[in-house]
Amino acid sequence: MQMFRKVVDVHTSQRVEMVDITRLVEEAVRNSALQEGLVNIYSRHSTSAVVINENEAGLVEDFLVALEKLVPTGAGYLHDRIDNNADSHIRGFLVGGSQTVPFQEGRMMLGTWQSIFFVELDGPRHRTLTVTVTGQ
Ligand code: ZN
Repeated sequence: MQMFRKVVDVHTSQRVEMVDITRLVEEAVRNSALQEGLVNIYSRHSTSAVVINENEAGLVEDFLVALEKLVPTGAGYLHDRIDNNADSHIRGFLVGGSQTVPFQEGRMMLGTWQSIFFVELDGPRHRTLTVTVTGQ
């Protein structure tokens, strides 16, 4: 078994935004030259998330609207007294900060309608993701 790690930079431009990082992850798998294994995409930030879902413009907007409904901005959170971003943390907590995808013959086994997104929850910022490719 071998392992490769790559730190990927993502620059976001909105407070809440979904950035399709599928190509970046594909590139990491390709550069590893591994054929069979797992790739993990991990965000080292507590106000962001990583998800796998469909990249359709209307749906992406629907996700962001749903997040605002589930965890409204500024709804009297205690953390907002010291750092005005409790909604960002709670959304990150619910959505989750990493994903793992299997790959076979050097290609990720994503479904036809699946893309990998970095979800910015407290931008705009410069973020770093750790992409770890492990296998043989
Ligand atoms: Zn905070």
